[in-house]
Amino acid sequence: MIGLIAVTAAGRAAASRLAVAWPAPATRNYPGPAAQAVQRAFCECDQIVCFLAVGATVRLIAPLLTSKATDPGVVCVDESLTFAVPVAGAHEGGGNILANGVAGVLGATAVITTASDAVGIPALDEFGAGLGLRVDPGSRLAEVGAAVLSGRRVTLSTDQAWPVPALPQNVTATAGPEPGVPAIVITDRVTSAGPGQVIYRPPSLILGAGASRGVTAAEMGDLMDEALAEAGLSAGSVRQVATIDLKEDEQGLLAAARERGWEVTGFASAELAVVVVPNPSEAVRAATGTPSVAEAAALLAAGRGAVLAAPKRKSARATVAIARRAARGRLALVGIGPGARDLITPRSVAELRRASVVVGLHQYVDQIRDLLRPGTHVLASELGAEEERAAAAVDQARAGRAVALIGSGDAGIYAMASPALESADGSIDVVGAPGVTAALAAAAVLGAPLGHDHAAISLSDLHTPWEVIERRISAAAAGDFVICFYNPRSRTRGGHLAKALALVAAHRPPQTPVGMAADASRPGQRVMLSTLAGFDPAQADMRTLVVVGSSATRIVAGRMVTPRGYVWREG
Ligand code: SAH
Repeated sequence: MIGLIAVTAAGRAAASRLAVAWPAPATRNYPGPAAQAVQRAFCECDQIVCFLAVGATVRLIAPLLTSKATDPGVVCVDESLTFAVPVAGAHEGGGNILANGVAGVLGATAVITTASDAVGIPALDEFGAGLGLRVDPGSRLAEVGAAVLSGRRVTLSTDQAWPVPALPQNVTATAGPEPGVPAIVITDRVTSAGPGQVIYRPPSLILGAGASRGVTAAEMGDLMDEALAEAGLSAGSVRQVATIDLKEDEQGLLAAARERGWEVTGFASAELAVVVVPNPSEAVRAATGTPSVAEAAALLAAGRGAVLAAPKRKSARATVAIARRAARGRLALVGIGPGARDLITPRSVAELRRASVVVGLHQYVDQIRDLLRPGTHVLASELGAEEERAAAAVDQARAGRAVALIGSGDAGIYAMASPALESADGSIDVVGAPGVTAALAAAAVLGAPLGHDHAAISLSDLHTPWEVIERRISAAAAGDFVICFYNPRSRTRGGHLAKALALVAAHRPPQTPVGMAADASRPGQRVMLSTLAGFDPAQADMRTLVVVGSSATRIVAGRMVTPRGYVWREG
């Protein structure tokens, strides 16, 4: 919940705008004198917005602050609603994100003062959070963060190739920390951060657990802790406890997992029975239908390439084993939109910032280079060589890196996502960040041409025989679809668009509207409306999207409109 504190008329008006944007229970007003309101909100809320001067806010919250790990994010907004300033809890408390949200609602500017955010380097406390890395308590975040920012040499060592975001050039990969050099260490092994060190825990371990009815949380928990300690593994790398579905309601097991912040997942005995384990037991098979619960569940949850890091160990009523997941690289398929900066989605931006390797065409990389973290490795190539580019991205992900493969519009539409996934196997994680495809950008400037069923057809015969393209054009035309022609022309394919329009003309009247948007949303955007009979294909080039209307499409006040075509209400 976000507490809202305002003491002036302007502040109260602005607070009610926030309350409209984020209705209760997301927000709550704290009326009354500011000092009491701040005190109450501080205890009750995850975040606070104060419509007060920064100085006043600082005085009010100062006695209440305890630790940046637990303090709420506090954002101040000035009386003229010009600035939203996070003054506490900027990272863990979500203050920076809140300030951006508040700025968005009020039309203010967020004033971000945490150094790493301001220069585009991931703050070490958030570094890798989107990729599942957690900071180990005791890490010297401020010290190492300052070293990273100052350009001093910092080492980065990891015992498995976990995908991590880009870090600047002064952070160099080494086998392990070096004396006197600030270090970032990614490991699931028990170590504690020494001076000048930050340790991240990867999400690498799965605890497998079996239990007899009535096991206590203490017995279960002790066995879990012992198993980890004996194997020299850190509880910070455990995210999940895996068991048999029969035990998903075993209270001692659930309580032990909950106390440690771990989720519990259950598998059916048939699923567990087929997992090959080192220590099967006939007695267990007789009781549960699978010869192994703890080892099998851990390995199954840990997925492909997992190994058993600790074989099962038992107490009177509990069994525990530990599996280690294989490090998996990550391939993000990122659409960067049709060209305008405000048509790239926030999710695509987040994926670009999460990546340590970005793969794409030069012209597209150039569009987003300023969004990349310092130190991002860029593999840019010329037009063509699509297979190589896709393969390079997959190879980088297989090597364990966080990779973003970018494409204009949407990366999955006539673009790199399919060749990449055709050559990718199950050893990497894949996420898609959709983009605004050219048809949408063009439709938005033409009017509403896609209001009813529509088809996309690429006129490029590089990957598809021309006869097939012709067949599809005729089928879409016969089906009375609105048709978006991608890749309408190139130097080598001068006549394709004219042929395509002739095929459509066999099924539509000559006055059918045809819209064209070249460089939609980019500088130099050109928009043209014409008809099947009147359209000159020479107007279109490779930067153009051509939309041919259906039999219902009309021009209304200079805009291309395809009616929705069904009746809203009866009678
Ligand atoms: N993945 C892209 C499409 C790649 S095919 C997307 O989703 O948009 C390339 C074709 O897309 C171009 O030949 C052109 O027809 C169209 N195109 C891409 N960007 C465009 C833009 N800004 N304006 C008009 N057409 C565009």
